[in-house]
Amino acid sequence: MSAPHPEISIVIPTYNESENILSVLSEIKEVMDNIDRPYEIIVVDDGSTDGTLEVLKKNLSTFPNLRIIRLTRNFGQHPAIYAGFNYSRGKIIVTIDADGQNPPSEIPRLIQTLEEGNYDFVQGWRKERKGTSIRKIFSRIVNWTISKITRSNLKDIGCGMACFTKSTTQKLLQASHHFRYIPAEVAWMGLKVYSLPISQRERVKGKSRYRVWSLFWVNFDIIASISTLPVEVIGFIGVIFSLIGFAMGTRILLRRILWGLTYNDMATVTALFFFLVGVQILCTSVLCAYISRTYREVQHRPYYIVQQVMESYQNENRTDE
Ligand code: UDP
Ligand code: MG
Repeated sequence: MSAPHPEISIVIPTYNESENILSVLSEIKEVMDNIDRPYEIIVVDDGSTDGTLEVLKKNLSTFPNLRIIRLTRNFGQHPAIYAGFNYSRGKIIVTIDADGQNPPSEIPRLIQTLEEGNYDFVQGWRKERKGTSIRKIFSRIVNWTISKITRSNLKDIGCGMACFTKSTTQKLLQASHHFRYIPAEVAWMGLKVYSLPISQRERVKGKSRYRVWSLFWVNFDIIASISTLPVEVIGFIGVIFSLIGFAMGTRILLRRILWGLTYNDMATVTALFFFLVGVQILCTSVLCAYISRTYREVQHRPYYIVQQVMESYQNENRTDE
């Protein structure tokens, strides 16, 4: 169904997915044609360099309700999703990954849950997660922390498959900061959220963009984007170490005064020195992380820049934001 006034917008952030995107689009088309509600598909090409854009352009006519939003460069998954929100015209917006890991067959259940439960946001919950155990550990820690901070009980912050009402995406678009993680943002806003267990598939082609080191920072970012908890943890560490230091000092002093005992334990002092310097540097780097984020914010740069918008039902046009 060609859709000048779509009810449902499917947003797909896409970065170097030339081998996956067509099969995902075909699957979505099949599922959505069965629902029989007007819909549009918005593929946000996040500066791909592997020919994804060319593949999309070539197949524009195959998908009569497709829009392609090309960003000027690679901005990241979340900026790409926000760009998609900005161009969505549906009352309900669904996000799904372009690598085929999120099964499009789950879209109807997500929409149904959102509508029947009157939720603002329904997120996919990959109960049986695929992926490395280090990723699972990171995501457990971050999910638990975010749930505690926001009291939202969101189960799977990292899942790219989710469903929003228009009013939720409009609230999200009001934000101007750069470190945004959509589920954390929604939870922070205090909206009505639900985690819906969905199936997950293995990536067929290509590799995940997230490496272990970047995962650490992504997870730090998610927490830092809505809370100052890491700074408070530093304060707590400082108090603990001060107390330990005070207790050790008192012990040495008492032993010297009462029993005349002296110490010459260089190894312990050296170990303690390295340990404390490590903790000190770690704490400083967390503070610097907040300062550098503040620096990024005061620059007031756009979150993403659109180079071109292409639609299968309109002429090509160019938009620079
Ligand atoms: N993605 C993006 N920009 C990026 C990195 C990823 O638009 O800079 C897209 C990617 O094409 C996919 C989704 O975001 O559709 C999730 O990325 P990926 O599969 O690499 O992450 P994972 O599934 O491992 O969390
Ligand atoms: Mg993936």
